[in-house]
Amino acid sequence: MTLHIVVCVKQVPDWDIPPSSFKVDEAAKKVVPPAGVAPVPSQFDAIAVEAAMRIKDATGDARVTIMSLGAATARDVIKHGLAMGGDEGVLLVDDAFNSLDSNGTATVLSTAIKKLGDVDLVLTGRQAVDWDLGVTGTLIAEMVGAPVITFAKAVTVADGKVTVQRVLPDAFETVEAPLPAVVTVSNELGEPRYPKLQQIMAAAKKQVNTWGAGDLGLDAGALAPKLTLERLFVPVTDTKVEIMEGDTPEDQATALAKKLHDAKLI
Ligand SMILES: Cc1cc2nc3c(=O)[nH]c(=O)nc-3n(C[C@H](O)[C@H](O)[C@H](O)COP(=O)(O)OP(=O)(O)OC[C@H]3O[C@@H](n4cnc5c(N)ncnc54)[C@H](O)[C@@H]3O)c2cc1C
Repeated sequence: MTLHIVVCVKQVPDWDIPPSSFKVDEAAKKVVPPAGVAPVPSQFDAIAVEAAMRIKDATGDARVTIMSLGAATARDVIKHGLAMGGDEGVLLVDDAFNSLDSNGTATVLSTAIKKLGDVDLVLTGRQAVDWDLGVTGTLIAEMVGAPVITFAKAVTVADGKVTVQRVLPDAFETVEAPLPAVVTVSNELGEPRYPKLQQIMAAAKKQVNTWGAGDLGLDAGALAPKLTLERLFVPVTDTKVEIMEGDTPEDQATALAKKLHDAKLI
């Protein structure tokens, strides 16, 4: 039977540009990316698509759905996943989805996964590279009632089970779970494949279904945030620089040692 894999891909501001080019609008509690920089798939999510493609290559019988929740522009990250080898896309877009916290995000994604109906494996990134909360994958697992395995560096599927090599701080471990299951994918899995021009053109013809809150039967109550963003700000660092006087490096070092001694630091 064909294995059905869903990969959740978030569209984020380009994570390759320097953090200093972002502004924080404290009043609106929003991060403002620089103008003219196209958003991209979150880094770990492209790696999750790569994990799905490796399973598809190995089993020879898998269907991969690329799912994204966001603005209409999130269609681009779905198309990227389709160019990598995905079969179809689901774009979740609605004004009601504009200010979701993690619980709301996972509610929309898990409801869409349940609506697809025949999903064997859900892959997410270990964390989204913008907000870095790292909770959406585990929340989805709870909401669809499936086991979850986090921080995967290798994912294989056989005999109705998923086997995952997990990344630990100083080791790896191998665990398995029955399907359906949710796996969050880490960067140790390796580089995502780069789509060729022919694949990019073929992706343009692949189907992307667009669902809103009404299609998923979700109302404002189900999406009400459980967290409140109290304040968003850039921390102010207060750094003082003092140049050690002295004619020679030895004099400067002596002055520095005296200063540290007087401050009772040495
Ligand atoms: C209190 C609070 C207020 C917030 N306010 C805003 C706000 O005003 N504006 C704003 O833009 N964000 C806001 N956020 C962030 C937004 O809610 C987060 O994007 C969301 O909670 C998911 O967390 P995360 O992005 O860190 O994803 P993680 O939990 O780190 O994501 C893990 C994985 O889940 C999947 N995933 C996550 N999000 C999506 C998605 N949208 N589509 C597909 N897959 C996904 C990806 O595979 C990803 O790698 C707020 C968050 C909090 C906690």
